[in-house]
Amino acid sequence: MVELSCDICGNTPIRAQIFLEGAKLLVCGRCMKSGKIIHKFYEDEPVEEAPQPRSRATATEEVVEGFAKIIKEGRQKLKLPLAVVAERISEKESYLQAIEGGRLTPTMEVAKKLEKELGVQLIEKAEKSIAPSRMSSGRFTEPTLGDMVGDD
Ligand SMILES: [Zn+2]
Repeated sequence: MVELSCDICGNTPIRAQIFLEGAKLLVCGRCMKSGKIIHKFYEDEPVEEAPQPRSRATATEEVVEGFAKIIKEGRQKLKLPLAVVAERISEKESYLQAIEGGRLTPTMEVAKKLEKELGVQLIEKAEKSIAPSRMSSGRFTEPTLGDMVGDD
């Protein structure tokens, strides 16, 4: 049997078939979030493997919104062909192409590698800032008893 590899990045194994931009793609676990999952080729992952001991959320990191442009510009600044960048960070050129085209969001791992390679910033800390000052005055008016008690 021929082993299929991910249509996006070339990795194996194939974990799902997704729908992306009108095309059905066979993709690996990493890329399956890039589109609409049509079919998963695995059932119930063994989720109950050791619950990661240090999962105390290290301030959520997110890939910045304009990543595609940042990557492209960073790359052009360094005059690096996509193929070279791809090789340096050990990713498929087609995968990076999709990222630069804004069709795919790079994973944290890839974003970090690109940051290093291109000297750009692609990750931002998404800190949930809780607005400390919320006006709390006059939010509640108590009904006054006097209004309700009439004299017979
Ligand atoms: Zn993939």
